Amino acid sequence: MVIKGHMNIDEETKLSVDQHRLFYQQMRTTTPLQAVVVTCWFGVLMYHDSSVFPKLWLAIFMTFLAFRYSVYLKIKAWDDYRIASHLNSVNRKGLIAAAVNGLLWSVFYIYSYNHLSEQWMLLFSAFVIILMSSGFITLAIHKYSFYAFFCCFLVPIIVFIFMNCEKESTLFFMSIMYIFFGFNILSLYKNINKTIIDSLKSVIENKRLASRLEELSNTDSLTTLSNRRHFEETFYSFLMRSEGLRKKFAILMVDIDYFKLYNDNYGHLQGDIVIEQVAKELKSVLIKTPGLIARYGGEEFIVLLVNTTESDSERVAKTLVRAVEALEIESKYSKTSPFVTISVGVAIDVSTDEIELKEVIKRSDLALYKAKDEGRNRYSLHP
Ligand code: GH3
Ligand code: MG
Ligand code: MG
Repeated sequence: MVIKGHMNIDEETKLSVDQHRLFYQQMRTTTPLQAVVVTCWFGVLMYHDSSVFPKLWLAIFMTFLAFRYSVYLKIKAWDDYRIASHLNSVNRKGLIAAAVNGLLWSVFYIYSYNHLSEQWMLLFSAFVIILMSSGFITLAIHKYSFYAFFCCFLVPIIVFIFMNCEKESTLFFMSIMYIFFGFNILSLYKNINKTIIDSLKSVIENKRLASRLEELSNTDSLTTLSNRRHFEETFYSFLMRSEGLRKKFAILMVDIDYFKLYNDNYGHLQGDIVIEQVAKELKSVLIKTPGLIARYGGEEFIVLLVNTTESDSERVAKTLVRAVEALEIESKYSKTSPFVTISVGVAIDVSTDEIELKEVIKRSDLALYKAKDEGRNRYSLHP
């Protein structure tokens, strides 16, 4: 009766989603940092060269950063794994964005190289290296974005500087520095990426184990219904969720008739099979009814019906009794029917904040005894 809303997503997709989430979370710090460095650099460049190109570039770059930040905000707002269905498109866009980001930087760097003095370029190179270090760590989360950025940013700069600088000039040494930086980043990349992926994997595995553990501790192993502990735990939340205040709910106590006799004559293993069959039948009858069913004890089940009426809960109790008898499970020693049967005690109530589960159960128990006294294979309603 309890329908849990969990999506069926494989571990690899989960890992990929978590990678994207982390990637865009990192973007939260690197994006404003890029904006600050670019603005300062732009100021210096304008001082030396007031042509239209740097202005145009700045406009494109800021638009790009704003767009990227909006993607971050969107992904942040998404629920757990809703992003999974858009993963391919997010992946593609992320890759293009990394390449565009790298190209924008390399174009601006090369342009500045032609318009600024060596001293200025050295200062900016230092800034760029610091900025890129944090950028590459972010990109290490996402393999392809890392390579896209690396190829579009560092490679053009290194090639350009090598082609244009004079040997043994400061800029020549600067390009050596870039090469060193590039190799360093490349060698670190694999370790950083592995550490990140491993930690994401262990978070996913921990979540899986926690939910499996919760499932096991809430489930009755024979019938796979909820167990008594889980029933008691979810009782109040169910009432609250169904706007239970001032709304009627019912507790149905279900008990297999003459089950001791059944066990004594057919054996406990056969008895277990009957408990399983009865549980399955009760569950399938109640599948569309809002509420909760649990195995309460040995051959007893408890049903909570929410937002119900007296006649509705009576109708449900009657259906359950008929459905179990209709299974026609042979029970030669029962004194009430040739088949296995159940009796049901119904207690109906109006829920309030202070509702006491034990009280309602007690009343459904009394109703059950009444049904037993009146001959079994029937339901009875507590007044
Ligand atoms: P009544 O119609 O009054 O309910 O009679 P009953 O014989 O069903 O009631 P009683 O409480 O005397 O017996 C319950 C029996 O259910 C006792 C036990 O043999 C059996 N039982 C309880 N738990 C299990 C279980 O997990 N497996 C099996 N096979 N039998 C169980
Ligand atoms: Mg019993
Ligand atoms: Mg019984």
